[in-house]
Amino acid sequence: MTDGTPTHDESDETDDEHDGPVDRDQLAHATRLLLDAIGEDPGRDGLVETWERRVPAAYEELTRGYREDERPTMRTFDTDADDLVVKTGIPIYSLCEHHLLPFHGVAHVAYRPDGEVVGLSKLARYVKWASRKLTVQERLTRDIAEGLDEAVAADAVAVELSTTHLCEAMRGVEAHTTTTSRATVGDLSADERDRFRDAIAAEH
Ligand code: ZN
Repeated sequence: MTDGTPTHDESDETDDEHDGPVDRDQLAHATRLLLDAIGEDPGRDGLVETWERRVPAAYEELTRGYREDERPTMRTFDTDADDLVVKTGIPIYSLCEHHLLPFHGVAHVAYRPDGEVVGLSKLARYVKWASRKLTVQERLTRDIAEGLDEAVAADAVAVELSTTHLCEAMRGVEAHTTTTSRATVGDLSADERDRFRDAIAAEH
């Protein structure tokens, strides 16, 4: 880092020396600039910790999905069954890349196993990890479908997300609307599609 580093001791810090998964010094600097730009006083009591510590820590957590070393391990179990595995109502929180604001709602996942299954809780952990990045809903839906397909070597995967985007709700563009997106890998039979749809309907 060159000039403008706002935090503590700037004498011997370089880009190479931050050892966390994100550059917290850069995040602190950027957050302080943001506060300044909106007319706030980054030095007032309520805000010092905000840019020095809290926002950098929050962004570290909210961007875990960029880091492969934090991808959940998906230990699989052998199975002879090829019945559709369905998990509905997985809470999902992600960040819209257009406005850096959250979109949140539920994810529903179904897959037809091809010799292996994973624990249902692993599906939820995978969805959580995959959503911790800047994205748009359609891409996230596809990322989850393809990621799960790879992780469980499934015959077919279907994913549906229903979310509210705070960039719409808070700005009054389309208050309280739900956006639904779907992605599939492989082919579900008509019967499997019905089962997935019925399971999702039973959530509501
Ligand atoms: Zn947005």
